[in-house]
Amino acid sequence: MTQRFNTKTVHFQAKDVARNMSKAQPIYQTSAFTFKDLDDMESFYQGEKEYLYSRFGNPNTDDLGKGVAAVEEAEDGVATSSGMSAILAGILAVVKPGEHVIASEDLYGGTYQLLAVELLNLGIEVSFVSFENREEIKNAIQPTTRLLYTESVTNPLLRVENLQMVQAIAEEFGLLSMIDNTFATPFLLQPTKFGADLVIHSATKYIGGHSDVTAGVLVGKKELIEKARVKVVSLGCNLSPFEAWLACRGLKTLSIRMERQSKNALALATALKTNEDVKKVYYPTELSQKGNGAMVSIELNSSVDVEKFFQSLGWIKIAPTLAGVETTVSYPIRTSHRTIPDTVREKLGITNGLVRISVGIEDELDIIETFESAIKKAKG
Ligand SMILES: *Cc1c(COP(=O)(O)O)cnc(C)c1O
Repeated sequence: MTQRFNTKTVHFQAKDVARNMSKAQPIYQTSAFTFKDLDDMESFYQGEKEYLYSRFGNPNTDDLGKGVAAVEEAEDGVATSSGMSAILAGILAVVKPGEHVIASEDLYGGTYQLLAVELLNLGIEVSFVSFENREEIKNAIQPTTRLLYTESVTNPLLRVENLQMVQAIAEEFGLLSMIDNTFATPFLLQPTKFGADLVIHSATKYIGGHSDVTAGVLVGKKELIEKARVKVVSLGCNLSPFEAWLACRGLKTLSIRMERQSKNALALATALKTNEDVKKVYYPTELSQKGNGAMVSIELNSSVDVEKFFQSLGWIKIAPTLAGVETTVSYPIRTSHRTIPDTVREKLGITNGLVRISVGIEDELDIIETFESAIKKAKG
């Protein structure tokens, strides 16, 4: 039968991607998959075919979930629409209304908001305590406690979590553990090696690495990921195929980016430590033998005009994010930590002079010289 114009515009033949052996993974930019006949479709429900509808699963999103699971040495993984939805799906997979979570008090601002407001509205109570203190965690345990939640490297003060201690408490009291490994990345640290049950990433950051995608990944024990996948599907916080494809492309260069960025960050932290207008430099020393990450936070002396400093950075842009190949700066009290109450912020050391630097892949001396010059220009 010859097709008429309107039919032809819709049904022109696409090349058979499965047989073309393309070197790069094609983008399965499709909301659903088709079937030869009803038996063929039934085979999806029998578990013989993988794909039916992209919200349930798609080759590109699976690539990201499985890819990050592989490098995290976790049993399984699922990709989500953002880091936030990875956290949400992970927590809802293991905690029910009426149950209780113990979380570190120095979490990423968005996570704090999710746990303190949204989860509370869903009937899940969260206690925020200092994870630097074993006794504080233990004292917060209630009969309904199910989960310990923390970050392997905290934001913006870059405290390296004692994962061994967190896991020991979880095991002693029969709790699950969930770790946000966004800042450390699996290149530097794999929380599953300490026994973590669930690990989340904002793939928007180092896994994507190019500031062009918003995505999340949750990895961990197979049975927990199965439960989380159900949440991702039901809540509709699946990732789009194109975003997944971009994040997968980022993942391929994670090692070389982290190697260079960690090296540059160490050089910058070392240089700023001897700068008389920098009161304090926050940079980890004990994260990993491969490096200590690409985030550096500094507290400027009160002699430095913060507004002027931000205006004097030239090619280094202000951005309320991190982890791209370009060096960027952010101002925690006005961005990521805006929603944290002043009293909590003060207790945590997030002051007016605090600047968070996400170090990129540029030449180390260009980065150092630009910061030194901005500090000099901003001196009152
Ligand atoms: C950015 C970030 C998140 C949230 O991720 P989104 O992709 O923005 O949803 C969670 N945790 C940490 C540590 C982050 O840096």
